[in-house]
Amino acid sequence: MTTTSTQSAREARGIETAGRSPEELRDLVSHWGAELELAPAETIIEWAAATFGDRFAITSSMGDAVLAHVAAKVVPGVDVVFLDTGYHFVETVGTRDAVEATMNVNLLSITPVQSVAEQDATYGKDLYKTDPDLCCKLRKVQPLADTLANYDAWATGLRRAETHNRVIAPVIGWDAKKGKVKVSPLARWSDEQVERYIAENGVLVNPLVYDGYPSIGCAPCTRRVAPGEDPRSGRWAGTNKTECGIHT
Ligand code: SF4
Repeated sequence: MTTTSTQSAREARGIETAGRSPEELRDLVSHWGAELELAPAETIIEWAAATFGDRFAITSSMGDAVLAHVAAKVVPGVDVVFLDTGYHFVETVGTRDAVEATMNVNLLSITPVQSVAEQDATYGKDLYKTDPDLCCKLRKVQPLADTLANYDAWATGLRRAETHNRVIAPVIGWDAKKGKVKVSPLARWSDEQVERYIAENGVLVNPLVYDGYPSIGCAPCTRRVAPGEDPRSGRWAGTNKTECGIHT
């Protein structure tokens, strides 16, 4: 596993390749977005790998390894980016380690510039309580932005069925904030499709999913939800915050 801070993970591996201009990337989105809207997830990832080569990575929060599993089938050795905030459940870290040990992927575990202790010293203890937006910015949003600097496209496991509050995920979209192509191969998958794929392929799932945590983030900001509750209602419960900022 490559563990790195905001230094580009790809730089850490000594890989430097030139990227396309934002105009070229936007043109690709305009052309291929509609073309691939109804394509299977494998085809979408195949297209991304063929189009962007080693400037394509997938991200995973290690709730399950469905996206990594699909990607590893069609792009063996694909870069899988995990944002290691320092606040994850041990089950999440264990799932990350199991993904790396059992799947043909290049796991990149990205840590923020400051450790939790350093952040406490700079901003006061438990920033997630006093300013969760800043905490997410320092531990998720900025590390991801820095990591994506040497990629042209990134894939996420976003699904439209997750909740009506979730950002609508185009299969191939333009992430204007990051200046990258954002690929969501599972966007059209239902909960049942995900469950079937996991069962049929023996895909790794974070054990917390079966313990009342259908949506898993950092431990201090995630609580169990009751059956029938909005799966994301356990994230930043009791606050107005619903997203960490990497998808907005
Ligand atoms: S989810 Fe909570 S602990 Fe994790 S980065 Fe955001 S505010 Fe901090």
